[in-house]
Amino acid sequence: MSSFKAPPKKNLGQHFLTDRSIIDQIVRAVNPKPGDRLVEIGPGQGAITFPLLRKHGELTVIEFDRDLITPLMEAAEGVGQLTIIHKDVLQVDFSKLAGDEGPLRLVGNLPYNISSPILFHALDHADAVLDMHFMLQKEVVDRMASEPGSKVYGRLSVMLQAYCTVTSLFDVPPASFRPPPKVDSSVVRLVPKPADQIGIADRVLFERVVREAFGQRRKTLRNALQLTCSGADIEAAGLRPDARAEQLQVSEFVQLAAHLGSLTVGGASA
Ligand code: SAM
Repeated sequence: MSSFKAPPKKNLGQHFLTDRSIIDQIVRAVNPKPGDRLVEIGPGQGAITFPLLRKHGELTVIEFDRDLITPLMEAAEGVGQLTIIHKDVLQVDFSKLAGDEGPLRLVGNLPYNISSPILFHALDHADAVLDMHFMLQKEVVDRMASEPGSKVYGRLSVMLQAYCTVTSLFDVPPASFRPPPKVDSSVVRLVPKPADQIGIADRVLFERVVREAFGQRRKTLRNALQLTCSGADIEAAGLRPDARAEQLQVSEFVQLAAHLGSLTVGGASA
């Protein structure tokens, strides 16, 4: 790997994994099976790439930093079939990439500065994604996986859990990276739910309800959602208007948005 000469770039969130045991844990968590279509976001200097490539034989990676492309290509010689997409991951159409050959398994120690946009970009293509294993800031993973009643249960928890099963797998300390980030990290698994189990017909309305409900999390639903619906609408959806957003299950947000979506003129309008 001596051809990786460029120093880590802060603006690209480059914190390279150096901890062998963490890399092994990630590969074990992904557990690639023959025929899987593995795609790594941000391979960097290949810390996860090459162990995966050795195990699986083929891998597609998406890397934005042009200084890493040739070294990655050279390092892959004789190891396996590495396909490199030199692009901003947010510009990659996962549905097109999956094509007819089956859904993708996304893996990545993500650049933390754009981790939420990457998550939502992947959700936009959920049909093309079998699962995701991502390293993220621990604080973000805690929010993603939290349950109602928790202080960190919020918009990110509801939006992701509505579409995916979210499992926090293990924590990773700063010392496992070069240079060490200022925060702790965690590895999370997301498995998109089958479309017929999600129950959200109008995603824009769902997002709006969740955003407004948590916009003022100390307020009751009746007050927080007053621009979108009345207390009677909330009651008709089977929920208590005096409940607060942080007490609602994900399924109750789905239920509320479904009810509001079913109302005709004079009721809620998205
Ligand atoms: N996987 C490597 C590792 O674990 O050592 C590197 C992880 S580093 C945290 C994030 C990687 O994502 C870097 O290689 C960075 O260049 C790349 N990256 C940053 N922004 C990107 C973008 N918009 N699209 C694709 N890759 C990006």
